[in-house]
Amino acid sequence: MASSEHHPSVDFIRAKILTDQDAQRFNQRVHTRFPPEPNGHLHIGHAKSICLNFGIAREFGGLCNLRFDDTNPTKEHVDYVQSIQDDVRWLGFEWGDRLYYASDYFEAFYDFAVKLIRKGKAYVDSLSAEDIREYRGTLTEPGTDSPDRARSLEENLHLFTKMRSGDCEEGSYVLRAKIDMASPNINLRDPALYRIRKANHYRTGNTWPIYPTYDFAHPLSDALEGITHSLCTLEFEDHRPLYDWVLRECDVSCHSQQIEFARLNLGHTVMSKRKLLQLVEDGHVNGWDDPRLPTLKGLRRRGYTPEAIRNFCERVGVAKRDSVIEMGLLEHAIREDLNRSAPRVMAVLHPVKMIIDNYPEGKVEEVEAVNNPEDASQGTRKLFFSRELYIEQDDFCEDPPKKFFRLSPGKEVRLRYAYIIRCVGVDKDAQTGEITAIRCTVDLDSKRGGSQAGRKVKGTIHWVSVPHAVTAEVRLYDTLLSESFSRSEGEREDSQSLLNPHSLHVLSTCRVEPSLQQARIGSRFQFERQGYFCVDPDSHDQKLVFNRTVPLRDSWAKISKK
Ligand code: ATP
Ligand code: MG
Repeated sequence: MASSEHHPSVDFIRAKILTDQDAQRFNQRVHTRFPPEPNGHLHIGHAKSICLNFGIAREFGGLCNLRFDDTNPTKEHVDYVQSIQDDVRWLGFEWGDRLYYASDYFEAFYDFAVKLIRKGKAYVDSLSAEDIREYRGTLTEPGTDSPDRARSLEENLHLFTKMRSGDCEEGSYVLRAKIDMASPNINLRDPALYRIRKANHYRTGNTWPIYPTYDFAHPLSDALEGITHSLCTLEFEDHRPLYDWVLRECDVSCHSQQIEFARLNLGHTVMSKRKLLQLVEDGHVNGWDDPRLPTLKGLRRRGYTPEAIRNFCERVGVAKRDSVIEMGLLEHAIREDLNRSAPRVMAVLHPVKMIIDNYPEGKVEEVEAVNNPEDASQGTRKLFFSRELYIEQDDFCEDPPKKFFRLSPGKEVRLRYAYIIRCVGVDKDAQTGEITAIRCTVDLDSKRGGSQAGRKVKGTIHWVSVPHAVTAEVRLYDTLLSESFSRSEGEREDSQSLLNPHSLHVLSTCRVEPSLQQARIGSRFQFERQGYFCVDPDSHDQKLVFNRTVPLRDSWAKISKK
């Protein structure tokens, strides 16, 4: 479609827009829209559409509208309207005074429908839904004309007025476009334009007993707003002839160009609003902002930044073929962002006590730690050092395998920003045999400034001073769907059975450095050697709660090889 050959350095959507501009189409205007239905919260797939629509408008010096596509009364709610606006703003986009609702066009849609009836291009059908399906034919067989296709103009007008008056039962009539029951494109076999629905609409209440279909309302909404390029996902490609038919027959002044692109699919998760709602309602997750969900609220609570999501969307780009993007790419984007911005702190997730035998009891020293090696402007801070420290259980091994460079009996490691220590033994619980403390001695000359400061040992481990440590809860997340279900299995109907039972792992006795006591909700940190974490809104004065945004290293390379 698009003559990309004239604009080879951009994707096919931008190439099409440039070609339109070359041809003086739309007076070289570029006006896009993001048209969510307020029937759920936005997810990362919507982020792709938002970045594309608002991004293109920005690049071409054009405009982008936010339009609520609210023509289905049964599932829509004002709460979603607010939430969607919050999310779009959070992502970093503004619509100015261009906030629209398709429901504001109900009167206009109705007038267009009457216009089509008067032109002989639409008729009221009294066939049942079942019969309409029957008459529609199949991919290989043409459809059959409805007996009502020949209804007179007067009768059509009369019945459509009656549909609107509210005097008809649901399902008793539909308004259909009169196009071609033999068309090879099933969407053109006299598609429905209006249905009777006795439902309360969250904005228009009971004013309307009839509601337009998406295929009728969407092109007209675009036209009424003067949209030049209507970007939508691939499943609407076969609807484009209908989109164009509606605009042509309604004789609107702005005939927008529909362009389709592949929707974003992410591996190991579910994406459709309907399925996300089901997970929330069935209690498989803790609300729409559960950090395991690919909703923007979930990602935000998990610690994702708008920058990382925008970079991810840009990197994914637009394509004409459906594909599944692995979670690793999203994680790469957030790692890249937080590596630059997140202050480093010490946190021990699985603590075991370590006692330094030759360090004086009661003595406290301060050692200096760098806040962010990627950003000198973040400065340094003081850490407390004392005789008793917490270290990570994993950083000690009584009977180490070869190449274990962390702590083991007789071996040395450096404590980050502090001394080199040597393990001289372990204390064990007499009953259980469990290690209760690791015994060490310290080389007191090995600290910065000491005569042995430059001495090299193989491993460096993190630690937190026992009397100064703050206890915290840390929530570790794994994929929503089990690892073995990769690709787009989340779109399977039985996706609930694919849920990963270990997607949330709560550690309640983590020990973190005292500077974190003051951390504000939402702030993000790198826990040294572990990953990026952020303060969860469940935190309060008495309790700190962190979410793991992403581990330091990519665990996906390994998973996708399996
Ligand atoms: P879902 O299938 O999740 O319910 P939807 O398409 O029904 O999504 P809408 O509210 O109609 O949700 O979507 C608003 C806009 O976002 C539409 O233009 C739609 O094409 C786009 N969009 C939705 N999901 C994706 C996705 N996964 N990738 C890219 N764009 C998407
Ligand atoms: Mg939709």
